[in-house]
This record gives sequence, structure tokens and C-alpha cells, in this order.
Amino acid sequence: MSAADFRKAGHTLIDRLADLMESMADRPVTSGKTPLEIRDLLDADANLPSDTSDAGEILAGAADLVIDHSLYNGHPRFWGYITSSPAPIGVLGDLIASAVNPNVGAWGLAPVATEIEAQSIRWIAELLDYPADCGGILVSGGNMANFVCFLAARAAKADWDIRKNGATPVAGGRLRIYASAETHTWIQKAADLFGLGTESIRWISTDNGLRIDTELLQEQIDADRADGDRPFLLIGTAGSVSTGAIDPLADLATIARKNDLWYHVDGAYGGFAAAVPSCKEAFNGMSQADSIAVDPHKWLYAPLEAGCALVRNPKALQNAFSYHPPYYHFDTEVINYFDYGPQNSRGFRALKVWLGLKQAGRSGYVRMIEDDITLARSLYDLLGDYPELEKVTHDLSITTFRYIPEDLNDRVGEEAVEEYLNRLNEEIRNELQQGGEAFLSHAVIRGKFVLRLCIVNFRTTIDDIRALPEIVLRLGAEIDGKIRKEVLG
Ligand SMILES: *Cc1c(COP(=O)(O)O)cnc(C)c1O
Repeated sequence: MSAADFRKAGHTLIDRLADLMESMADRPVTSGKTPLEIRDLLDADANLPSDTSDAGEILAGAADLVIDHSLYNGHPRFWGYITSSPAPIGVLGDLIASAVNPNVGAWGLAPVATEIEAQSIRWIAELLDYPADCGGILVSGGNMANFVCFLAARAAKADWDIRKNGATPVAGGRLRIYASAETHTWIQKAADLFGLGTESIRWISTDNGLRIDTELLQEQIDADRADGDRPFLLIGTAGSVSTGAIDPLADLATIARKNDLWYHVDGAYGGFAAAVPSCKEAFNGMSQADSIAVDPHKWLYAPLEAGCALVRNPKALQNAFSYHPPYYHFDTEVINYFDYGPQNSRGFRALKVWLGLKQAGRSGYVRMIEDDITLARSLYDLLGDYPELEKVTHDLSITTFRYIPEDLNDRVGEEAVEEYLNRLNEEIRNELQQGGEAFLSHAVIRGKFVLRLCIVNFRTTIDDIRALPEIVLRLGAEIDGKIRKEVLG
């Protein structure tokens, strides 16, 4: 591709993407196509092209395909899972990053990019009120950020050479992990992948607010020690994935210190809300953690993928990942990120994060995060006006609720009715995910299937929120009319 062709195709493409941004709110959230329809569009069974094609034409075709048939997480009414709208500046940042293509594994291969990553990490730490001289690394997302911290904890707390000899304690007993029952599934993957086994996890029950029960936690730690096991890691969640619940982080810090455990906070979703003054109290204790995982591709609006692991003692990352002697010294000490994490060659994902931090600054992020929380709260309050909509939880920017047909209100709690309500709300969720009016996901809270709105979206307005109850009421009544007889008799 010549520079001239690149220029032409690039300009055309940027125009199309700007058009997409302008028209986003008027489009359905999703085209709701079936897997077969999508495969047809793509001509999925076609063979590998044997000949070359014109780059401009293929790019135009790819833009048609992707722009017209995707689910838009940048749509003002996208409220599913925890997936954010991408910051336009990050989109452009990715273009620079891939055009220059520094390999951010080693300083020598990526001098400016390495320093930009280091600065981004310091700024993220600052935003979280975490020591700015901590260690850190950007990775692909929350799972990977939690894994990196997990491996740092494992290497720091095992009293044998776990990197050399493996995860089974030579002197017997078993490494033990403590986390609430609401902890994200990364912990199972980590315990499995890194050789401890999922049976090493102690799932601690939660209180009414879905926060870890600290009394049960201490009892379990004591019981395990008495059995000769080796408690080593305590995980607090700062914004659970289902409901946004924040564990009592200061109490956990105390328990970790008293029991000599590595204290890790999973703030992949909620962590950045610590910067919001009205939330500060709930995050008390997070800054005492030995490590924190946050996700710039959630509340910092970096386009996918960007996660960030922060570790209080920077040496702990090298101790977990480096295969060089850490006393390597050049004239000036430099960071070679391959020593700080699992990757070798690494892309320049820091640029989109750094650009977002520079553009929005602290006050911009505080305002955007606060807006999301306020909007989720507005929905929770609004639900009070609708007798068919039962509010269930509100925490951070997550609100959960369910639809109950008016004539079933008196029978809530009956087993058959609860089963029916679960089915009905599941169908409503399915319709919401296919129909394109608004996109929600779900949670299961104490056996109830509930609709779950999670706003990590700088485009959502109060009018979008006000429109939601009527949409759910309409779909609820329609689906109830269709399936009640068949399910409930
Ligand atoms: C999103 C999330 C994760 C996983 O992060 P990914 O970026 O999806 O890998 C882990 N923990 C919590 C609390 C999350 O919200």
C-alpha cells in the first residue's frame, strides 16, 4: 500500500467513523441478526483469497460489514455487562500506536512508549490514591490484571521457590485463597491456570448488601491454619460484577495484615469510582492493598483492550516475572516491561489510556463516573413509579430490577410463581438483547433472575433512562401474554 493510497483510504475511513459517531443514537443498539445471517453476510465458507485485492475496496467493505452489523457499546442505550463506550481520542490513539508500532516489551525498542506507559500507570495510581511509586503494567483487561497480581502474591507469599518447584508446598498443607462468593470468575481461572486448583479457593458468604462477611472470613482462616494449610491471599472486590457491591475494604486490610496475607483488591469495574468524592468513604482501605487490578477499558473509556495491574512493591512484579537478575544496571535505570509481566512482545496500549487521562483529566473522569452513578440511581428511583417493576439493588452504576405482572404481585414467593418470574424476566432480557431498543444484561440475586442495567457510558442521558421502564413494561406484558399459560398453567 503506498503512502498516497493509505492517505486516501484513511481519510475516507475517518469520515465514515465520524458519520457513525454522529448517527449512533438514531441507530438500533444492535441489528439483532442471527449467527446464520451474519455468516451469510461474511460469506463465511469462502476459501482464503488466492489473489491480492485493492486495499481501499476491502477497507470500504470491512467498514460496511462491521459498522452496519455490530452491537454498539458506544450507543447511549447500551447498558449490558461492563463494557464501555470507546473514547474517540482512544480510537485515534490506537491508530498512531499501530502505525508507529513500538514493541513495548523493552525500553530500547520503545523509548517514548515505555515512558508513556510508566506515566499512565503513575497517573492511574494517583487517581486511586495509591502510592505513585508502585509497580504496574498494562495488560489486556481485568482478568489479566488480576492474574498478574495473583502471580505476584504467589511468588511473594510462598515460603519455598514456587517459580522453580511449582505450586504444591514441599512441606505439606495447601495454599489458600479467600474471596467473597460474589468474586468474578477470574479467580477460578487463576487458581486453575497457576497450579493451585479451584479447591484452594475459600468462598466466603456475603451479608445483605452482598459484601463479604468478615466474621466468617476470620473463622475460615483460623480453621485452615489449624488444619496445617497456608492462607496466603485475601481478595476484596471494589464493585462486584453483578451488583456493584463494595466489600468492607478497610476491614479486609486489617484482617490481611493481622493474618499475614497478601491483600489484593479487584477494582476492575469499580476501582476508578474511588476518585469520586461522594464515593470515597466506600473505598477506604483500598489504598492499603498490596495490589489492585483496574480496567481502563471500563471507566476510563479506553477502547478494548486495556487492563492495569498495580503492585505496591514494584520489586514484587520482577520477583514474579523476571528471568534476569534484577540488579541489571545501565547508566540510567530503565523499565523493560517484559520483566514485569507475562508478555514478551507488547503493543502500545498505553497510548489510548494516556490520551484519555490527558484529555479528561481528574475532573473529567470524576464527572463522567459520577454521571453514570447518578443515572443508575435515577432509574432506581424511577422504578418506584411502576408497580410492575420491582427494584432489587442499586450500587455504583448498576441497578437491578424485575418485571412482575400486576396480578401475580400477591403470589410473589410461591415457588411456581418465582420460577415463572425467572423465566419471564429471562425472556425479557433476551428480547432486550435482540430488539435494539436498549441493551441490558441480567444477574441472579438470591435465586431471583433480575434485569441488570450497568452504565459505563458517557453518552447516556436522563431521557434514555426515562425511556427504559416503558420499554420493559411493554415487552413484559407482551411476553407474559405469550408464555404464561404454557409455563404456569
Ligand atoms: C470486568 C471485570 C473483570 C474481568 O475483566 P475483563 O476486562 O473482562 O477481563 C474482573 N473483575 C471484575 C470485578 C470485573 O468487573
